[in-house]
Amino acid sequence: MRAVVFDRPHHFRVLDVADPRPGPAEVRLRPVATGVCGTDRHLLAGGFMARFPLIPGHEIVAEVESLGEGAEGLSIGDLVAVDNTVLCGHCPQCRRDKPLYCDNFFSLGVNGPGGFADLLVARADKCFPLDGLDPMTAVLTEPLACAMHGADVLALRPGSDVLLFGAGPTGLLLAQLLVHGGAARVTVAAPGLHKLEVARHLGVDETVRIDRAAPRTALRRLRTLAPSGFDAVIEATGAPAVMMMCPEVTRSGGTVLVYGMAGADDTVRLSPYEIFSRELTIKGSFAQTHCFDRALLALHTGRIRTDGIVTDRFPLERFGDALSAVAGSTSIKAVMMG
Ligand SMILES: [Zn+2]
Ligand SMILES: [Zn+2]
Repeated sequence: MRAVVFDRPHHFRVLDVADPRPGPAEVRLRPVATGVCGTDRHLLAGGFMARFPLIPGHEIVAEVESLGEGAEGLSIGDLVAVDNTVLCGHCPQCRRDKPLYCDNFFSLGVNGPGGFADLLVARADKCFPLDGLDPMTAVLTEPLACAMHGADVLALRPGSDVLLFGAGPTGLLLAQLLVHGGAARVTVAAPGLHKLEVARHLGVDETVRIDRAAPRTALRRLRTLAPSGFDAVIEATGAPAVMMMCPEVTRSGGTVLVYGMAGADDTVRLSPYEIFSRELTIKGSFAQTHCFDRALLALHTGRIRTDGIVTDRFPLERFGDALSAVAGSTSIKAVMMG
């Protein structure tokens, strides 16, 4: 089969590799749409748990091609969204019912073979039938599941005034969850004008343009909007310069949620005095487990909308172009088509 293979940091090829075989309780899948994510760029650079050689692609919608021994609940030809996380169930974290922190956290397309290939193997119980949902909508199930977990972590108080930095795919999905989750007002701040337009279209109340090279110039507008600060501020860009701005636009007693993925070696300067004296809470949200069913339901009902989020489609051979597209400012989500 053909596959995108990251073979060493900053280097990949599209090549022929052996077809994977499904083991017991597994199925073999033929990807029909796999989302390209900022995480893929971190992985290619050798960061974030990357293990080379790696077939990336963790936002997977696929057709069931064959069933391994004892694989239940699926039929050949079913279209499914694949929960890419695999948790061991027996490490100290799993035994404490905290599987997200699993010591053996395994994730298709991150540290195991993923969906940028003609075939992949997944556990049958990790495949969620689309039940008629359009694959181009369902391809956002994994990002929405992560956003769902972010909303769980944030545990927003109804009536909150929320600021979200970043209007990438997960930012746009998380913003909608907050709109429907009881926020009195949701403001999205990001550099891309087009992304801000999509954010407005998807129901956010205010948008603020930020200059990627000088994000602090947006502070005046943000302070005009919320002179006492926002109840919750979400950093969904992964940019350290933006993270450093978060406490100063957070209301006393408020919460900063670190949602975007920064580089593993990035650092920021924060004032401990400010966190102490204004009783700020800083939370982190990482990936997801067990959020797929809720994400799919929200996509089915249309509570969470995806129009305008998938902007580019590429065949497997043009993976390089897809990576360049997601690094640019006009593209939002690129999808590799099987
Ligand atoms: Zn992703
Ligand atoms: Zn575990």
